[in-house]
Amino acid sequence: KTILGIESSCDETAVAIVTSDRQIVAQRIASQDDEHRPFGGVVPEIAARAHAERLAPMVQAVLDDAGMTLGQMDAIAATAGPGLIGGVMVGLVTAKALAMASGKPLIGVNHLEGHALSPRLADASLTFPYLLLLASGGHCQLLLVRGVGDYRRLATTIDDALGEAFDKTAKILGLGYPGGPAVERLALEGDAKAVPLPRPLLGSAEPHFSFAGLKSAVLRAKQAGIHADADLAAAFQQAAIDCVIDRAKRAVAVALAEGATALVVAGGVAANKAIRAALEGLAAQNGLAFVAPPLALCTDNAAMIAWAGCEKALLGHSDPLDMAARPRWPLDPDAEPVRGAGV
Ligand code: ATP
Ligand code: MG
Ligand code: FE
Repeated sequence: KTILGIESSCDETAVAIVTSDRQIVAQRIASQDDEHRPFGGVVPEIAARAHAERLAPMVQAVLDDAGMTLGQMDAIAATAGPGLIGGVMVGLVTAKALAMASGKPLIGVNHLEGHALSPRLADASLTFPYLLLLASGGHCQLLLVRGVGDYRRLATTIDDALGEAFDKTAKILGLGYPGGPAVERLALEGDAKAVPLPRPLLGSAEPHFSFAGLKSAVLRAKQAGIHADADLAAAFQQAAIDCVIDRAKRAVAVALAEGATALVVAGGVAANKAIRAALEGLAAQNGLAFVAPPLALCTDNAAMIAWAGCEKALLGHSDPLDMAARPRWPLDPDAEPVRGAGV
């Protein structure tokens, strides 16, 4: 199958064409970092307008890059949520128009499902079930991925997402937006042991994550004015890693009992090399394969949406043209609600 995918749920406008034999035939991505940088974060209205301006010409450009026509697609996939609703609507309505004009089926993809299945685009040997750490700007979850559309949430954050903690730390240190890569770079020059920082919920009996207290501790340490920024960055990153590994250990035990053979990391934070290395160690200790998609597939992109659409199309799935865009859309609707903002 050949699927055209659209991503517009945050501040990346992206279009890709992907085939069921795991070829990314063509893809384009336009980041809006320059538009949002003056505000230190994504402004929803600016994002929606930028998607609306860029998306249609980008679809044409990707078809041209591939040397293909809409008629050669087997389905049109787009992120239908969760995310900033204005941007999601722009992407979904564009996909609906393309599906209507070409007579091809529409497939609405959960953005998180795109992240969750992206490792299978890069690695044909990755089979269900697997344990997934999904860590991005808006989410931090441990999921047992049992099949396409079959996810069990083992843990989520009770306050900030991990990427959000990186972004806020970057802001505190004056590193600008987006913050994750900048904090990682600065951490390389610092001494993690130079600043004592808390590790929220370390060793706790409850399975969830918490990063708000860590971020506040970074703020207080910065205000104290006695530490080098590089040491603060390194100490923050190490504390975050310690929390992630502690929480992941609990989930690994559950996943092993459920027959999982791999530990997988996805979402924008999966681009972080120190976090990857720590997870790889945890996987090795437990006899699990470690799978992390290439960096370009970690942060928001359309290839992962086209791929998730492809996996759903192969199972015979399609969606009606009146499908609604959803600002919130949990992958595991049966999961217990947690206190705080986590979903
Ligand atoms: P969601 O997928 O939850 O809707 P999102 O779309 O903002 O959120 P992604 O594009 O998947 O998320 O990831 C962006 C996040 O990843 C940002 O918070 C960014 O700081 C973080 N990130 C990117 N690269 C790194 C890195 N090298 N180290 C740490 N964090 C990183
Ligand atoms: Mg982004
Ligand atoms: Fe994302």
